[in-house]
Amino acid sequence: MQTRKDLRNLAIIAHVDHGKTTLVDAMLWQSGVFRENEQVAERVMDSLDLEREKGITIMAKNTAITYRGTKINIVDTPGHADFGGEVERTLNMVDGVMLLVDATEGPLPQTRFVLGKALARGLPPIVVINKIDRPDRRINEVLDEIYDLFIDLDATEEQLDFPVLYTNARAGVALTGPDGRGRDLVPLFEAILEHIPAPTCDPEAPLQFLVTTLQHSDYVGRIGVGKVVNGVLRRNREVALLKPDSPPLGASLSQVYTYEGLNRVEREEVPAGDIAAVAGVDDIFIGDTLGDLAEPRPLPVITVEEPTISMV
Ligand code: GDP
Repeated sequence: MQTRKDLRNLAIIAHVDHGKTTLVDAMLWQSGVFRENEQVAERVMDSLDLEREKGITIMAKNTAITYRGTKINIVDTPGHADFGGEVERTLNMVDGVMLLVDATEGPLPQTRFVLGKALARGLPPIVVINKIDRPDRRINEVLDEIYDLFIDLDATEEQLDFPVLYTNARAGVALTGPDGRGRDLVPLFEAILEHIPAPTCDPEAPLQFLVTTLQHSDYVGRIGVGKVVNGVLRRNREVALLKPDSPPLGASLSQVYTYEGLNRVEREEVPAGDIAAVAGVDDIFIGDTLGDLAEPRPLPVITVEEPTISMV
């Protein structure tokens, strides 16, 4: 087993309009992704500007940021209770969560379901109270409401000891206390590096890639997105497609990708620990494992509890 100190995988949990897109945008800008690759920068910003003009901001399902040599994969969670297991599958890829809460509105019921699932899985949380510049902010009350919610959801002592960041995402500022001044998101990046554990995995072991979601590209067709749990994903390599209740099928990966900024980028190989995507396997489906042909090891299928949540 290896600890990938150069990686962090975290899921973001936020009620709609609490500022997730704005915060991730600011993190992208400040993290240097754009400086390293100006062309990517122009393209990304063009599409963002376009979205803004249309009055729709989009939050990518997978975003990756590099800060101080560490790649931070940020995975979006469904903003509602879903009954298809998407929440479980998403949380399965990460080692911690960031709960983002509006400083005026406080935590709202729709985020409760996802947060509850994250806490039950033992994931460590970081709390971000956003929009601290709002004149009607009520930061201390909101923090109390968050503690109450955590207690209600049976958070452990360690989980209750969450770090809190106070942000003005629009200005791209994070503070470690409710008062004070800042000029960047460095305290937030540092909190992620410190409090979200690095993934542990075995890149030497046979491949295990768990398909979490599907995407589609007009060029390459169906794309499977997920985490490289062990081993290495390699382009043009024959792998075993492992489906529940059926024998392994041979498949060849025409493309292997990771994420950089808001983009999926082609790679020759992706070692364990990272979030990746593959193309070329037409029959790939959610819950499948891609494994080693010689030593196929399917990952457990994520079981989903019956929905017990009421949306009040
Ligand atoms: P999302 O639905 O969670 O992705 O929310 P958005 O990022 O789209 O933000 C919703 C609205 O809140 C937008 O109008 C943002 O400009 C605004 N907003 C985001 N962060 C802040 C902040 O820190 N302060 C203030 N005043 N407004 C913010």
